[in-house]
Amino acid sequence: MDKHVEIDADSGFCFGVVTAIRKAEEELTQTGSLYCLGDIVHNSDEVQRLSDKGLKIITHEDLSRLHNVKVLLRAHGEPPSTYKTAESNGIEIIDATCPVVLRLQQRIKASFDVDPSERPQIVIYGKKGHAEVNGLVGQTHGEAIVIENTDELDKVDFNRPIALYSQTTKSLTGFKEVIEEISRRMAPGVRFESYDTICRRVSNRVENLQKFATSHDLVLFVAGKKSSNGKVLYAHCKEVNPNTRLIANAEEIEKDWIDKAASIGICGATSTPRWLMEDVRWKILSL
Ligand code: SF4
Repeated sequence: MDKHVEIDADSGFCFGVVTAIRKAEEELTQTGSLYCLGDIVHNSDEVQRLSDKGLKIITHEDLSRLHNVKVLLRAHGEPPSTYKTAESNGIEIIDATCPVVLRLQQRIKASFDVDPSERPQIVIYGKKGHAEVNGLVGQTHGEAIVIENTDELDKVDFNRPIALYSQTTKSLTGFKEVIEEISRRMAPGVRFESYDTICRRVSNRVENLQKFATSHDLVLFVAGKKSSNGKVLYAHCKEVNPNTRLIANAEEIEKDWIDKAASIGICGATSTPRWLMEDVRWKILSL
């Protein structure tokens, strides 16, 4: 049976990730070696491609032991403590923090850097321990309250002012639920401000992605296992087309899925490289 296989034109790296990879490749072309704090992108195949060119992924612990080297900070951003460590160790930073994340860090810092008597509780709707969230919490000397859903709102004092922000890759629907729940529980007359800081590169994609997912019998969603953005977008595809499979690369395709589908859509997260989706297409056509 002839198969119709289509790659979603809008899937793939967002400009934040494209810029980080470009900066890494520029440095690698010149010197053949560069450290990167954490995975440059949540996609192990792309990390491997760059590692082959000389990129070395390091942890925060490694950073504190290194001296006089160049280190790339990825699109997720870092807390101020990372910059301090780099400075005291003579480390040159190549800063690839995405401008959208940088703006969010600055806004949170501005909310926090007021007289303590005026300071609201800073609440971040996001994933605890996620690199971007750590960078955001760092703007408040660790005081921001991170909540992953409305069940965690008990940590918040509704008798005191609240400024709510969101990690850039969270879902708009979830954020709206949090706003509604806080509004419902706020003590009368107490200030509550919410800032929708969700990246439109992620949230605007949902509608188009769902349209794409419904137009195929089988959808292969290609994303690294560590990508939060990937999990969110995959869930949206699965919601409209239950025959959606999450795969990390072409190796994970099962022939049985392909045999049963006449039309197959390939899409991915903002951390999915285009070449990986092309690989998936070649694999399908070869089965
Ligand atoms: S998803 Fe948005 S905020 Fe995150 S790196 Fe990409 S462009 Fe920047």
